Amino acid sequence: MEHSPFTVGNEGRQVFWNAEYFEPILFLLTAVALAIFAYGLYRRWRMWVALGKPETRLDNLGERLRLLLMNSFVQWKTFRDPYPGIMHGLIFFGFFVLIFGAAFDATEFHIAEPLGWAFLRGAFYLVFSFLMDLFGLAVLIGVLLAIYRRYVQRPDRLGYQGKPDNTPDDALALLLILGIIVTGFVIEALRIHVTKPPWEYWSFAGWFLAKAFAGLDPGTAKILHKITWWVHALMSLGFIAYIPYSRLIHMIITPANHFMASLQPAGYSEPIRDFETAESFGVGKLEEFSRKQIFDADACTRCGRCQDGCPAYLSGKPLSPKKLIQDIKTYWLEKAPAAAAAKRAAELADAGAGGKTAKRGLLRKALDRVDVMVDARLKGKMPEEAPAEKALVGEVIDLHELWACTNCLYCMEHCSASIEHVPKILGMRQYKVLTEADFAPELQLTCRNMENNSNPWGIGAHLRADWAKDLGVKTLAEDPNVEYLFYVGCSGSFDDRGKKVSAAFVKILKAAGVSFGILGTQEGCCGDSAMRGGNEYLYQALAQANIEVMKGYNVRKIIATCPHGYNALKKDYPHFGGAFEVYHHTEIIAALIAQGKISLKKPVEGSFTYHDSCFLGRYNGIYDQPRRILEAVPGLKLTEMERNLAKSFCCGAGGARMWMEEDIGERINNMRTDQAIAAGVDRIAVGCPFCLTMLSDGIKDRKKEEGMAVLDIAEIVYKAMDLEEEKPAGEVCAAPQVQ
Ligand code: SF4
Ligand code: SF4
Repeated sequence: MEHSPFTVGNEGRQVFWNAEYFEPILFLLTAVALAIFAYGLYRRWRMWVALGKPETRLDNLGERLRLLLMNSFVQWKTFRDPYPGIMHGLIFFGFFVLIFGAAFDATEFHIAEPLGWAFLRGAFYLVFSFLMDLFGLAVLIGVLLAIYRRYVQRPDRLGYQGKPDNTPDDALALLLILGIIVTGFVIEALRIHVTKPPWEYWSFAGWFLAKAFAGLDPGTAKILHKITWWVHALMSLGFIAYIPYSRLIHMIITPANHFMASLQPAGYSEPIRDFETAESFGVGKLEEFSRKQIFDADACTRCGRCQDGCPAYLSGKPLSPKKLIQDIKTYWLEKAPAAAAAKRAAELADAGAGGKTAKRGLLRKALDRVDVMVDARLKGKMPEEAPAEKALVGEVIDLHELWACTNCLYCMEHCSASIEHVPKILGMRQYKVLTEADFAPELQLTCRNMENNSNPWGIGAHLRADWAKDLGVKTLAEDPNVEYLFYVGCSGSFDDRGKKVSAAFVKILKAAGVSFGILGTQEGCCGDSAMRGGNEYLYQALAQANIEVMKGYNVRKIIATCPHGYNALKKDYPHFGGAFEVYHHTEIIAALIAQGKISLKKPVEGSFTYHDSCFLGRYNGIYDQPRRILEAVPGLKLTEMERNLAKSFCCGAGGARMWMEEDIGERINNMRTDQAIAAGVDRIAVGCPFCLTMLSDGIKDRKKEEGMAVLDIAEIVYKAMDLEEEKPAGEVCAAPQVQ
């Protein structure tokens, strides 16, 4: 009989067809699978709380729910990478819908039908059947794409230094999903083959597959159906039970980690607040991480997104953010079972003595009992004693790894599990520097220079304002009633190239009539390199000195030409009472152009690319203003490098690397210079004095000085303003409205 989709009637199917008598056994097995799942999760939870300092992240629930929704249910971060994003999306959304479908089937069979309220009928049933097949197919395609990628394509990021890091667990998880979907379609096909409902084409995948069984007699088909049904059921239940013991646990941990993501500004580092009382600083042992930081490591799915753009890894250093997180996780997995067992034994002893843990609920008591039994069973298979203590910094994490990080934030920006790599690295650096007084090579001298002369080079602090001598710039001591403080920073004050940028920017401000002043010799180093190099003590001393001076002049608005100073003043100084409005000079220049306060009339010929500084882009989201400025310059041709915006490649100077030698692998600044050369440009525009130095060195190393140069945006704008031929505007105009 032909079926017309326009005359929908009582279409449907018998749920549990050919398997209705298996229902009690299935119930029992489901209960066992769920119990194994629940116990696995409980055991993992005990491991999460066994080590680490307590840390609660339950504030601002609205924002946390938004992060959960965007990153877990919308898969926002995952989709940034098309192939793995689509692959994961197909599996995730497909499975999500199939789980709902299974719940609908169960409700229909166990509740709705017996009560006479069957709802899987008519048009609803047909659409339901269609969607189940569609999303089942989506999972199938997703898994095949995953298998192809992991075992055929084998991208470097699914390994380490050219070797894949596949585990049997990876294969088992993929095979289980593949098996569940394929057997699901076979069951459907065999049912359709035997029952032949006229609306079968709505279950299009099963209907198509049923053609393969065309010659099969109904009796054999029913036996085959029964066997496949059991294989499907056992694999599905095995999948549920396997979740907490395998990589599949990321289905639970990753959303939880998104929910507990840091709500602090990008690149945030919690200041050390107990210098007077603490005996040890930073993180020298696994236990000194917070529980959230340990949970964070457990959430890593080894997707390798972080490694894909890590300048340290790509330049051949021993650091890979993925490996670093996995090394912490592996060490935790070694230590946590023994720590959890010891904690449980203490709790049981306390409960036995009528202590505060005596009032635990029945479920908790039952789970503890199972835990004791499992530990007893595992005895002999597990080492008798707790694993030998290793030095977290030095053995678990190699010192070269630790010091190779440029703090570029690529890993954190692109991690699909919201893992926080940089705070862990900073914590371990703080331990080395502050507790063990073991600095990275060269950083000791840099810190001493900062202590003695408040700049990393150790140039006399009294020379700090010499660059401005002939520019007619007032200090705040001379005129405290200015709108803006121009915080010049160490590069802008002492480095020859940086001084030119400061001069160009000052001339722009004067031409635009902006009311500003500098601190002169009262200015000090912002402290960013000290902080990023682990010397939080020195950093706080430098920050507090600056804040005191700034507050003394009642400073409210600050402009910085260095993104490192900009970031520190804007985000970190508020911890020490320095709450200012802080702008980067590209924000100010973009606003001055938009408001017509400066005009760019002289063509600046040349093909330019813009290099996004990490501390401007990923740390502060300033991508647009520098590009808007360059686009406003007449004659300037702007070409993007392949790695740009949030995927920009670091110049190699952040994280205090500016002051360290780079003797392992390729030089990062040379790699970035090569990327600019590949873009076919002859000028690199920057908005950071560190990038200016690093890329200028890269051009020298690549012997391209003849044809290539690096310019700060302020220098380009100054040229385009053609100020040499024009008298600077005398009168002071209103402050620019920064967007
Ligand atoms: S911050 Fe940058 S250099 Fe450091 S681990 Fe992450 S990606 Fe690598
Ligand atoms: S840290 Fe994040 S980005 Fe890196 S491998 Fe783990 S989950 Fe992927």
